[in-house]
Amino acid sequence: MIKAIYPGSFDPVTFGHLDIIERAARVVDELIIGILVNKEKKPLFTMEERRFLLEETTKEFSNVTIQTFEGLTIDFARKNGARLIIRGLRAVTDFESEMQIAQTNHSIDPEIDTMFFTTSLEYAFLSSTIAREVAYYGSDVSKLVPPVVAGAFRDKFGK
Ligand code: ADP
Repeated sequence: MIKAIYPGSFDPVTFGHLDIIERAARVVDELIIGILVNKEKKPLFTMEERRFLLEETTKEFSNVTIQTFEGLTIDFARKNGARLIIRGLRAVTDFESEMQIAQTNHSIDPEIDTMFFTTSLEYAFLSSTIAREVAYYGSDVSKLVPPVVAGAFRDKFGK
């Protein structure tokens, strides 16, 4: 029984995240998406909104659940009895910090490993920041985020 967590800000969820979720859900038995409450970042979407958008877009995966968490990812993994942390890698720029975080986590708890999925090429450029920027200026986000997220952007920005 492999239980994994997939932590992130998901502000908001994009097709890049969903690609990782779909692929990870195929190789683990249970996948818990952890939405990080980061007090230093001012998110565009509230925790409830981010959770709702993730719930709406991951309905089809029967082994995926959503939680929110504060504090260290490794503690969130332990609390849930997960041995695996899932992360996505877009570019070399992600690599350095992700490796540092993974090694730190592994040194804190050698029982817990990080598993990386490399981005599908069509989403290599995609981040929540990019999606927010495109939506803010009223451009078409249909290739970046699912329709429910595009609707949430319209509600936020009124465009
Ligand atoms: P964070 O704020 O921790 O970067 P995000 O919500 O932006 O959290 O992302 C969560 C995880 O999803 C990270 O591992 C990130 O690298 C990955 N991710 C985000 N967008 C993509 C994408 N387009 N392709 C692959 N992985 C991605």
